[in-house]
Amino acid sequence: MICEMCGRDVPQTRTVIVEGSRLNVCPACARFGEDFKTSSAGGAPVTQSVIEERLEKRERRMKSKDIYAGSTSVELVDDYGGVIRAAREAKGMDLEKFASSILEKKGTIAKIESNSLIPDDKIIKKIEKALGIKLTETVQSGAAVGPGGSGDRMTLANFIKKA
Ligand SMILES: [Zn+2]
Repeated sequence: MICEMCGRDVPQTRTVIVEGSRLNVCPACARFGEDFKTSSAGGAPVTQSVIEERLEKRERRMKSKDIYAGSTSVELVDDYGGVIRAAREAKGMDLEKFASSILEKKGTIAKIESNSLIPDDKIIKKIEKALGIKLTETVQSGAAVGPGGSGDRMTLANFIKKA
């Protein structure tokens, strides 16, 4: 399917309203309009330019926002390493034992506990489950990222120039 905004051929398009007109656009361009009908498109991975990458990141953020009632997002707690270490020690597990219990390398866990490595979602889930803790928090998103913000328009202009 062809995106009616950037012309890219994508596996799936979404119908959005852009300045009053209905367009079928790719997931990246869907950011510029308002959802015509809410659908959780799979979001085919797109690479290339920095701008596209940024749009994709924004889309991921919007997606997690959708799950949490539209005005919040989920982020890793500040001192996730300290939280993990405290919970692990409370369970009387050393680094090695804990790491092997969740099938990770001891070095990986050590880095995570010193807050020098940000664990990916999969590891976060495993650690949360293994230790019975919560490593993410729901945060209110700022007004700056709201729809119709000037940031969006800037990005749209840049995007069209590049496309
Ligand atoms: Zn597009």
